[in-house]
Amino acid sequence: MDVDELLQRHGVDTARLEPAPLSPSWREMRDHLALLAGCAICGDTCLSAWVVDAGRGPRWVGLCRGHTPGVLSELAAPTVLGKTGAVHG
Ligand SMILES: [Zn+2]
Repeated sequence: MDVDELLQRHGVDTARLEPAPLSPSWREMRDHLALLAGCAICGDTCLSAWVVDAGRGPRWVGLCRGHTPGVLSELAAPTVLGKTGAVHG
């Protein structure tokens, strides 16, 4: 499941999320992780920062450990995946 799907499934309105740069650098994503208020779904401490575009422009999305997709495999290798990317703190 990708993050767009996850947000949709939990009824998160992406319009209320903070606008993000279209292709943030790894550094920008890492730095923004510390600024995120909490998991976009449950409000818990963010483990990962994502940028998603659900049709209203790119938005920052923070996700906690429980809501980060593929958290176990991705923790070993921080990655930026283009338009929809993630960085783990
Ligand atoms: Zn969460």
